[in-house]
Amino acid sequence: MRIAIIGSGVSGSLAARLLSTQHQVAVFEANAWPGGHANTVDVDLAGETFPVDTGFMVYNERTYPNFCRLLELLKIPSQPSDMSFSVRCDKTGAEYQGGSLDGLFAQRSNSLRPAFWRMLWDIYRFNQRGTQAVASGELKDGRTVGEFLRTCGVGRRFVELYLVPMAAAIWSSSPMAILDFPADFMIGFFANHGLMQLRDRPQWRTIVGGSRNYVTALLQPLQNQVRLATPIAAVARSEHDVIVTPQNGPPERFEQVVFATHADQTLRLLADAAPAEREILKAFPYQPNAAVLHTDTRQLPSRRRAWASWNYRVSQGETRSAAVTYDLSRLQNHDSPTPILLTLNPAEDIDAARVLRTFSYHHPAYSRDSIAAQQRFGQISGQNRTHFCGAYWGYGFHEDGVNSALAVAQHFGIDLDACTAASMKEPSRIVVASP
Ligand SMILES: Cc1cc2nc3c(=O)[nH]c(=O)nc-3n(C[C@H](O)[C@H](O)[C@H](O)COP(=O)(O)OP(=O)(O)OC[C@H]3O[C@@H](n4cnc5c(N)ncnc54)[C@H](O)[C@@H]3O)c2cc1C
Repeated sequence: MRIAIIGSGVSGSLAARLLSTQHQVAVFEANAWPGGHANTVDVDLAGETFPVDTGFMVYNERTYPNFCRLLELLKIPSQPSDMSFSVRCDKTGAEYQGGSLDGLFAQRSNSLRPAFWRMLWDIYRFNQRGTQAVASGELKDGRTVGEFLRTCGVGRRFVELYLVPMAAAIWSSSPMAILDFPADFMIGFFANHGLMQLRDRPQWRTIVGGSRNYVTALLQPLQNQVRLATPIAAVARSEHDVIVTPQNGPPERFEQVVFATHADQTLRLLADAAPAEREILKAFPYQPNAAVLHTDTRQLPSRRRAWASWNYRVSQGETRSAAVTYDLSRLQNHDSPTPILLTLNPAEDIDAARVLRTFSYHHPAYSRDSIAAQQRFGQISGQNRTHFCGAYWGYGFHEDGVNSALAVAQHFGIDLDACTAASMKEPSRIVVASP
């Protein structure tokens, strides 16, 4: 069969690789690089080159089993990462780092503040109560995080300086949206990822040399079937075929299509969307996030002891977007002369002389409707010559992208181990369309 795959993030690349073992595939990618949010760039500092991940960065062996299996099949080396977390609050001047006692009391006056001790006590209580609520299944009644917190008796500081920063950083979500997240979804994720326990947390890892290494290996056998810089403008299905029209080329005919684009992008491409497709895909709104790669350490907490791998900033006034600075040198074990930083939605200007690159990323903003829509996957995927994958079908992370690609491959009777099969059909090179 001739199958078009639109989008080459983890979901599209894996779907393409698996389907290519039995079918003829063509991957269409809007960007000039493959991998979507797996986007490694080289930073040159003092004569040395550091490959840094500006989108997908970390995973762990406990909650990413299929992604780990994929790395194993592709023989991609990884290394342990430091996942420390800090909060800096511009409203109150408070700062702390969660990785150590020294970091927790980086601001020495914290030890004298009853409100700080109350926050630590609330963290303990929330962890106990959250773990119990997940185990009992009581969160399945559809309540939101805000509604659940009202039953925990936790204070404002816990919410503003701990829970909202952590969750908004994890989902790159608007801080205001966190309390409206479905409790089952968010607290279930916290429980799975050991975020509500002090011991036995999973070891997070990064890919040696950056995430592009696994993308390159994954796409290696189907190189000339990947068309970069080829945004698709429209997809039309009929009883007999699927017509895929690139923005910069003639329409092409396929027998099946796999959408590995975000839900909102997919809906825009489907001129002939069925009512169920429209309803389901509309349930995943996206939040834009500006990402700036730079070396301006003023974006980190003011006290060096409070510096961490993930640094959340609570800015003055209400903010629509999470302001997080990732220390990529620390996360990826780069011995760079100065920390290489990635700030999502900077709360204050970054020194222009220290800006290296800028990106725009979009993340799903989950609601109750999104979780309900995920349950309806089978109503649209595998129907009408059309398949859907993408991390948005799960929690929004790499393992979810992998699982979504596996669900599509399973429809064709193919599983992850097919990655080991010789799948080269048309050897050649990745094609970048001229602008
Ligand atoms: C800053 C940041 C940090 C993150 N960190 C982590 C992390 O550490 N761990 C983790 O597990 N997850 C992380 N994520 C989440 C990440 O989004 C998912 O893990 C995953 O990479 C999403 O994969 P995807 O295939 O669903 O989508 P994407 O990777 O977004 O792929 C979609 C692809 O479709 C392409 N496309 C869109 N429209 C068209 C069109 N019209 N024609 C052709 N192609 C099109 C896009 O260019 C893109 O390449 C992070 C995300 C960001 C942005």
